[in-house]
Amino acid sequence: MIVQFHSRSYHALTDHEIVKSLGSSAESGLTPEEVARRYEQHGWNELQFKPAKPAWLRFLVQFHQPLLYILLLAGAVKAFLGSWTNAWVIWGVTLINAIIGYVQEAKAEGAIASLAKAVTTETTVLREGQPLRIPSRDLVPGDLVVLTSGDKVPADLRLLRVRTLQIDESALTGESVPVEKSVQVLPEDTPLAERRNMAYAGSFVTFGQGQGIVVATANATEMGQISRSMENRVSLTTPLTRKFEQFSRTLLYIILPLATFTFAVGLGQGGSWIDMFEAAVALAVSAIPEGLPAVVTITLAIGVNRMANRNAIIRKLPAVEALGSATVICSDKTGTLTENQMTVQAIHAGGQPYRVSGGGYSPKGDITQVSNGKEIGLDAAELPPALAQCLTAGVLCNDSQLKQTGTDWTVVGDPTEGALIAVAEKAGLSQAGLSTDTPRMDAIPFESEYQYMATLHEAQPHIIYVKGSVEALLRRCTQMLDAQGQAIALNSTLIKQEVDDMAGQGLRVLAFAQKTVSIQQHAIDHEDIATDLVFLGLQGMIDPPRPEAIAAVHACQSAGIQVKMITGDHIATARAIAQRMGIQTSSGVVAFAGQQLAQMNELEIHNAAVEGSVFARVAPAQKLQLVEALQARGNIVAMTGDGVNDAPALKQADIGIAMGKGGTEVARESADMLLTDDNFASIKAAVEEGRTVYQNLRKAIAFLLPVNGGESITILISVLLARELPILSLQVLWLNMINSITMTVPLAFEPRSQGLMQHPPRNPNEPLLTQKLLRRIVAVSSFNWVLIFGMFEWAQSTTGNIAVARTMAIQSLVAARIIYLISISQLGTSLIAYVRRQTPSITTAPILMVGIVAAVVLQVVFSQWQVMNTLFETAPLTWNQWVICLLPMVPMVPWAMFANAIDPPCRQR
Ligand code: ADP
Ligand code: MG
Repeated sequence: MIVQFHSRSYHALTDHEIVKSLGSSAESGLTPEEVARRYEQHGWNELQFKPAKPAWLRFLVQFHQPLLYILLLAGAVKAFLGSWTNAWVIWGVTLINAIIGYVQEAKAEGAIASLAKAVTTETTVLREGQPLRIPSRDLVPGDLVVLTSGDKVPADLRLLRVRTLQIDESALTGESVPVEKSVQVLPEDTPLAERRNMAYAGSFVTFGQGQGIVVATANATEMGQISRSMENRVSLTTPLTRKFEQFSRTLLYIILPLATFTFAVGLGQGGSWIDMFEAAVALAVSAIPEGLPAVVTITLAIGVNRMANRNAIIRKLPAVEALGSATVICSDKTGTLTENQMTVQAIHAGGQPYRVSGGGYSPKGDITQVSNGKEIGLDAAELPPALAQCLTAGVLCNDSQLKQTGTDWTVVGDPTEGALIAVAEKAGLSQAGLSTDTPRMDAIPFESEYQYMATLHEAQPHIIYVKGSVEALLRRCTQMLDAQGQAIALNSTLIKQEVDDMAGQGLRVLAFAQKTVSIQQHAIDHEDIATDLVFLGLQGMIDPPRPEAIAAVHACQSAGIQVKMITGDHIATARAIAQRMGIQTSSGVVAFAGQQLAQMNELEIHNAAVEGSVFARVAPAQKLQLVEALQARGNIVAMTGDGVNDAPALKQADIGIAMGKGGTEVARESADMLLTDDNFASIKAAVEEGRTVYQNLRKAIAFLLPVNGGESITILISVLLARELPILSLQVLWLNMINSITMTVPLAFEPRSQGLMQHPPRNPNEPLLTQKLLRRIVAVSSFNWVLIFGMFEWAQSTTGNIAVARTMAIQSLVAARIIYLISISQLGTSLIAYVRRQTPSITTAPILMVGIVAAVVLQVVFSQWQVMNTLFETAPLTWNQWVICLLPMVPMVPWAMFANAIDPPCRQR
């Protein structure tokens, strides 16, 4: 029977009371049957957000744009003046635009949100006494949860056991200093922030370990209570969309006075009020690229999708842009640049070097002793004592297992630890055997902060095994084992020499030590291993670079992006791997150790950050310093991180990258992007896609604005010359919304260009409209003006029918536009390559073709269908007139090539 605590006073109950009232067991947890039953009652452990804004409000927000205000107002004035058809068309187009915007936004948000959701958080529970890794959403009240540093607390827990457990509850309380937890019963009226025996969902374990019982899940948690009222929308705003908004606003400030001016001049020249109002509205509508916001959203969403297909999950949209302009990538070594496939190849124990054969995690292989350049085989029954101790320490001070499937051996847990088990098996020491003979009593798990792990084992007397980095262990040792297994004084010079030798070959070196303690001792703490350890030996393992990462490093470098390695590993190991992968600056492989950085002043750190390509034994706080230093020198920094304390550096970086496979929840929450395969090559892929997004946006701008330019110049000049308007406001609306969107959306799907990674990153301060792009826009706008104005004047004088003349002007504009669209697309690049008998980069462009065909069909309907004639004041054209409208496509070919020549980035980049 589960008692419901409506008073939420779990903290005031004793362990015993709480476990009993939740119908669980503090030792073994729940049974599967019980879990299933509770799941029926409580459901998934997932927060249910209610959307902050109802759908109708989000739809209305679509109208909250200065341009749409103008349109709605223009419609109202038209209606007031009696042109109801006009008014309805204006309002109709506005409505269509809002619907498109709404649907696109909802789709983009949905896509990003579901990507983020696909990355499940996991948690460790004890069920029937067995530790299990399960998705956090499967938790039910009464489950026993095991917490370690880096975990996200998956539900509200009453803590039953803690070991220096510290939890960051800032999400809940706003207090950023982690809280030290305990298990003491607290008074009923203790406020939430002081309930030290509770761990609340949504907070993070920053240190230590603990165990607690689930008292509330999903929306019953404290976090659930808060988030009922919280907004959980993915933001679609990025620096770029803000730039666009800014741009539209600036345009408006230019257009409004200009429209007023047109109105006044027209009146002065004797035009009628109604005509001049029409001209002013047409000018205002023509100047603003109505289709742009939709295209920006779609392009970003497609970029996010493409990145996901290449193993990079975007959590925060601005990262898409930042990726396109990244100048430095700081990457972890182990697992990201390297395979994380460890095999021990060299051992040093009792002053003796040994060599190990065999690859992978299979126990096949031999250990041979190297003496005077000769290799002597070993007898498994009579292992040298120091070697045996060193291998034993590696197996016992270990949280991982090897698993065999067929002939394949894999690691369950940490690859570094898997390698230690495999090598011991090669010498005949089995993990199962050793753990039964000397069972573990307690452990301090590995944390990058300390760089060691220690375990306490039952023996006569009890024994502590420690493994970790040489630096961390050696200063805690006073003795070492000699060849016969006797403890002698420590010779650290000899050991350091051996370490440098192994690390210089790129081996990852781990040191091993032990200490005997009294049988009274049943638990260990950091103090227990602070001094008086006996050094057992070293094991060096290879971790080969990923071939695809080497290629990606080179690709980044030729794209003007620096790659820097940041690692917790030994400086010599890091340098050797960097050398092999070509991770260097102009001065070669320059390596700095964390210790060196710690002694530098700010200026020196800035210099080191720029000059260095390898940073070894780096503490998390130093990662933050490096990001800041690189940013201070104007870089856009991508930084990977997986540890508990990497969060500040990940947040500070322009693109914080966390690992989807390895890595802690803390790091993932702070990251902008997740790698599902933890592979450096995926970072490069994301950069490529980021550049493509930017390039495609540039194309959209280069495509849209010249039509706006052409229309505006036409209207302005025609009014000033006191001539009939070649194009009416409604027709401008049609061109700018219906026609533009049909033809521009395909640009969002443009494939990446071949030369994408052959030029340096874009300057992040570069304005949206660069000089070159502006020149292109002016050039094509002029062409469009000549086209609209010329065709209209010619058709009007020859046919005398103003509706036909306007229709022909519009149709010829769209015809020339098709050529221009092809000229800035990859299809255009391919066509030119084909003409020059080179290999084209793409052979099909289905979406572009769909866009063009749709635009053509719409244009035919626009002039040939009677309903459209009434709505948009167009007229049906004859075959001859259609042919004439197609003629401007011919001069557009050289003109478009000319435009590509003045603004090559738009085409090539
Ligand atoms: P990186 O991931 O950059 O290689 P880590 O922070 O994982 O760096 O490791 C830093 C150092 O800590 C390693 O060089 C090694 O000496 C030590 N180390 C790594 N893993 C373990 C482990 N499981 N147990 C003990 N020591 C470890
Ligand atoms: Mg690591």
